[in-house]
Amino acid sequence: MRLQHWLIVLFTGLMALILLGINLVMYSMSSGYRQHNFFLSLENSSSVVASAVLQQEKAEDYYAVKNSILQHLADEEEYIIRINKERSQITFPPSLPLEESFYWEAISNGRARRYENGVHYVGLFREDIDGTDDILVISSARDVEGDAYRKRLKTTLVIAFLSGVLLMTLTTVFFSKRLFGSMVKIIKKVNSINAFNLNDRLEKEHSLDEISDLQDTLNEMLQRIETAFKSQQAYVSNISHSLRTPLTVIVGEAEIALSHLEQGHPAAYSLRMVMQETEKLKHIINTLLELAKSERQEQGQGWGVHRLDEIVEVVQEMVGKMDKSYKLRMDYNKFPENEAMLYVYCNEALLTLAISNIILNGFKYSDNQQVMLKIMADGGKVKLQIMDSGIGIPAAELDKIFDPYFRASNTANYEGFGIGLPLAMKILERHKGTIQVSSRVGKGTTIDVVLPAVHAVQGT
Ligand code: ADP
Repeated sequence: MRLQHWLIVLFTGLMALILLGINLVMYSMSSGYRQHNFFLSLENSSSVVASAVLQQEKAEDYYAVKNSILQHLADEEEYIIRINKERSQITFPPSLPLEESFYWEAISNGRARRYENGVHYVGLFREDIDGTDDILVISSARDVEGDAYRKRLKTTLVIAFLSGVLLMTLTTVFFSKRLFGSMVKIIKKVNSINAFNLNDRLEKEHSLDEISDLQDTLNEMLQRIETAFKSQQAYVSNISHSLRTPLTVIVGEAEIALSHLEQGHPAAYSLRMVMQETEKLKHIINTLLELAKSERQEQGQGWGVHRLDEIVEVVQEMVGKMDKSYKLRMDYNKFPENEAMLYVYCNEALLTLAISNIILNGFKYSDNQQVMLKIMADGGKVKLQIMDSGIGIPAAELDKIFDPYFRASNTANYEGFGIGLPLAMKILERHKGTIQVSSRVGKGTTIDVVLPAVHAVQGT
């Protein structure tokens, strides 16, 4: 369960329990007080009856007082039980639903109270000093008004409880949304920051102090990471630069040496291998260099209008130099009749690098099997489709393959660094293009690269 929901349930539950407790205490105190008063009225009544029985000559006066002064209670009844001084052979009225303990409690304590099935019972014991028997007066009555009062109180408290819980739930939801809304925004933003947009910062929200403290802390941390990352990029960039020249020299020298060898010379194979591997190394270094530069580069130098199929030819040549066994098959089925539709505004070197990264992946992850390439154009877009029949990408990992340094779980037997695709995407984004991947494990991968055609860009 998410912390936000957990907090709402916990807080509302806790408040509901407290409210329930308060309501129960209020109900029992109020109802107890009411019952106590009713017992007192009943005892007054019993007391007058007892006096009337003990002083028979004034009995009428007592009853007159009772009728005129004392409150008349609903269903009021009196039972008089004579109890001999030895307390033997006592018979208690069988019609009353009272246990014997009630009578003995009244006899020994002078009074007893019971509440049975909505009826109040009071037992009042009086000694008759002059007479032979003492008397026990049992009075019973219903507290009709009290019952109605309790019913009203119950309804009021239930309504108060439900409205209280509702109000508290709404308040908790409101405040937790405010609190966690900011947190969710922070989480989303932090999740969207990667090696390519390390200069992004969290937008300051002037909400809760702790939240803005958290934003400050994260922003400061991002600043430190960016600084460290930049110095590392500069380092990689310098090294890549320094490595590129000797590699170009190696390839050039190997080519010259190869041209001097007779056909079928045993060293020719070794020289070709040196050239191939050096080309691969150059490609890796170029990728690293572009990755390091990707943050700083703007459109401008090196940008121009080119035909996409010509760029693909450059890629073909480049890939061919890396391994002669790479078989790139062109599918011209959907090739546009009007070749003017193939022009894109691009940085040739960058676009070549992006497309070659995708194609080289196709070869790598299909163990050098054939990779199919299709060029299409329509609706102001130029589309390049690259298909292989390799190992594919697990569905659950498809959305991660553009994260820098991510490698799918089925690539353990293949070399790689996880920078080719993120860089390709970054480059295509800079060209206002898109890249989409569909793949099935064990069947293959299809990558669609879409770029705006030049006339479409001009038209916008
Ligand atoms: P890597 O150097 O690992 O190939 P990339 O950035 O080029 O790095 O690709 C990222 C991940 O995407 C790869 O590790 C692999 O899991 C997956 N991937 C990319 N292209 C393919 C493909 N054609 N077939 C299968 N998996 C691929």
